[in-house]
Amino acid sequence: MEKSFKKQKDKLSIFKNLRQRNRKNKNTREIPEDLFKKCPHCNEIQTSASYKDNVCPNCGFHLPMNAYERMDLIYDGRYKVLFTTKEAPNPLDFPGYGEKIDELKQKTKLDEAVVCSIGHIGKIKCVVCVMDNRFMMGSMGSVVGEKITKAIEFALKKKLPLIIFTTSGGARMQEGIFSLMQMAKVNGALARFKAANLLYVSYITHPTYGGVSASFAPMGDIVIGEPFAMYGFAGRRVIASTIKQKLPDDFQTTKYNMDAGFIDLIVERSKCKQTLGKILAMHQGVRHG
Ligand SMILES: [Zn+2]
Repeated sequence: MEKSFKKQKDKLSIFKNLRQRNRKNKNTREIPEDLFKKCPHCNEIQTSASYKDNVCPNCGFHLPMNAYERMDLIYDGRYKVLFTTKEAPNPLDFPGYGEKIDELKQKTKLDEAVVCSIGHIGKIKCVVCVMDNRFMMGSMGSVVGEKITKAIEFALKKKLPLIIFTTSGGARMQEGIFSLMQMAKVNGALARFKAANLLYVSYITHPTYGGVSASFAPMGDIVIGEPFAMYGFAGRRVIASTIKQKLPDDFQTTKYNMDAGFIDLIVERSKCKQTLGKILAMHQGVRHG
């Protein structure tokens, strides 16, 4: 343990020295800031290039992926982004909310915490929504709910399968009841989608909590969990202090949720596209039974 810590420290100090030397000597090329990455799970420091698809090469921890990285990973090639919007409602006139949204739009180049799209996976056309937790922790404000509802209605109209990648901190407190209403709205659209016997695959990524886990995340005909994805309604600490009981060490992990029946399949990121392609081909876009 001590030895590995020393090794990492050495690696970091070499990196720092190189950067300092480069700053002094302007003729040499600058070493990029993101050359190394520290895994938040095993704390090992590795080169960023060794993180394939944002997965730690040492322990296999799946680091968060943004919406565009995810779409590049799963689609056969080109895809089309749907329902982009300029709307940013502030129904409660929550102080500073509008400014926060503007700032995040600039920083993330997203219009909200979800990107809806259409394209092909394994040559089968489908509609995919990917939540992105860089935008207000992926919380479900009224624009998120509206975009997902529109995507479901669009998939229903075109009779296409639907895949939703979830990651969310829950409801968006700045929108109060308007945020909570999105749960019923999205699930209402999903009920109509399911009545048409179309396939919905829910794909849980880290972390998925609150209103999303209490509405559309568990409603998939098939619910897939990514390894290391924490998934539940309230967080561990809140539950432990409410029920005043010790919780199992693996509480809310993908394995725990699979044993409890909340997740059907655990799929590593390297097999994400391949698995979705297989499921879509098996069902040919429709749900059986
Ligand atoms: Zn790791």
